[in-house]
Amino acid sequence: MTSKFGKPGLRRKRTKKELREVEARYRSIFENAITGIFQITPDGSFLAVNPRLAGMLGYGSPGELMSEINDFRRLCVDPGHLDELIRLIQTQRVVVDFTIQICRKDGSRIRASVNAWSLRDASGKIAGFEGMLVDITERWKALLALRESEIKFRSVTQSAIDAIISADTAGNIISWNKGAQTIFGYTEEEASGRSLTILIPEKYREPHRKGLERVNATGETRIIGKTVEFSGLRKDGSEFPLELSLSTWKTGERRFYTGIIRDITERKRAEEMLKNYAAALEEANRLKDLFTDIMRHDLLNPLNVIRMADELLLEKTKDDDIHKSLLMIKRNSDKLIEMIKNASMYAKLESADKLEKSRLDLNTIFRTVADNFKPQIDEKNIHLEYLPESEFYAMVNPMIEDVFSNLLDNAIKYSPQGSRVEINIIDENELNRIYVKDWGYGIKEEDKDKLFTRFQRVAKKGVKGTGLGLAIVKRIVKLHGGRVWIEDNPEGGSIFYVEIPKA
Ligand code: ADP
Repeated sequence: MTSKFGKPGLRRKRTKKELREVEARYRSIFENAITGIFQITPDGSFLAVNPRLAGMLGYGSPGELMSEINDFRRLCVDPGHLDELIRLIQTQRVVVDFTIQICRKDGSRIRASVNAWSLRDASGKIAGFEGMLVDITERWKALLALRESEIKFRSVTQSAIDAIISADTAGNIISWNKGAQTIFGYTEEEASGRSLTILIPEKYREPHRKGLERVNATGETRIIGKTVEFSGLRKDGSEFPLELSLSTWKTGERRFYTGIIRDITERKRAEEMLKNYAAALEEANRLKDLFTDIMRHDLLNPLNVIRMADELLLEKTKDDDIHKSLLMIKRNSDKLIEMIKNASMYAKLESADKLEKSRLDLNTIFRTVADNFKPQIDEKNIHLEYLPESEFYAMVNPMIEDVFSNLLDNAIKYSPQGSRVEINIIDENELNRIYVKDWGYGIKEEDKDKLFTRFQRVAKKGVKGTGLGLAIVKRIVKLHGGRVWIEDNPEGGSIFYVEIPKA
């Protein structure tokens, strides 16, 4: 091969014209280069800078830069950096990618990467240095941001209690946090690079392999983006239930998978306990209902027979002493019958968790109840004011009748002869309010709440009761989603309020 300089290896002296051409070429590169170029003396003073470098540092021209700053050191944020660069050039001849921080004319700073080498004179002595400089401020910032986010990610993953594991498309582990070590028992060194199958019980390995193959081939995922429950395998060979949230991500063409895994052994155990407990409770309720039915049936039947026979004997006997004893039997069997009825009703209500509701007219129900109490009302000469006049439809269970009947019964029972009882139903936007107001004996503040508890009664001489009436009221109202409470009647006596939501 021949060059324009003659035979290869042979140097010929260039003509003046050729030299001018070469110089023009270099000048053009120097003037138009998109990297900054500088030449400095061995002590750092500028010999030349190109327009790109002047522009990069905020100066109008190389001339302006060189007249204002004659020494490269004055551009450096840390002048020691230039000395270090010069030292390296002297020992290595060429220095590549040396990072240096430089001040711009406006005081702002850039970070630059410098490639530099020495200039030698004809005798081989160092005559200065030459270098190219690229502004890497943005790249540097991006790198810092990346590093920062990497540190953040690492600290989050390392401090997480859950296992955070990443794998490549071959299913090999590429990242492993402390949580993973705690859950699976492998250290990061032991797990890194190994197949995910070490974490999967034998019987699930094949489906896992097929799933991975399918996702890699088609991108079709069944569990990515969802939380699913699986079984895991610890280093010690034990299996445990886990919850997995899987995501996939790509860098360039490479796909990766990250799974967040939670050991749900305790949760499963609690769920199991709760399930057993619920089943036991259901069985206990079933037995209680059975017992209640038997009690109701087997006790009430003979009691009713006793009661009827007693009634018959009461009609027939002329003997005063026998009459007294028969009356005692009547009173006591009546009390027993009421007690059994109330106790079995309360037991049923206690295990119920909801009541069927339908649209019923409260007015009709309450008027019927009031009619049933006519004998007691007449006997005590109670003045009953029943305020609602027209139909009053509400979504209730027919057991609402027992609420009303218990409250009215109490209002009569705990009021003196010739007293007054007022009843009303009020439509209040979202709910219906019912109240039964009496001018009776009243209730002490400290007793108000406890009276709704079963078998809690404040004994009143000559007043019969089972202590279950208000407990039944409270339970029925609660099953309607409502509430019941007592207030004092300012004129003496009590007001029982019941509120039942319409919805
Ligand atoms: P019982 O009336 O069978 O004793 P309840 O559960 O119906 O049982 O009532 C519990 C207690 O609340 C009663 O024993 C009584 O002391 C008190 N009580 C209930 N209603 C009234 C009322 N309207 N006025 C005064 N005391 C009442």
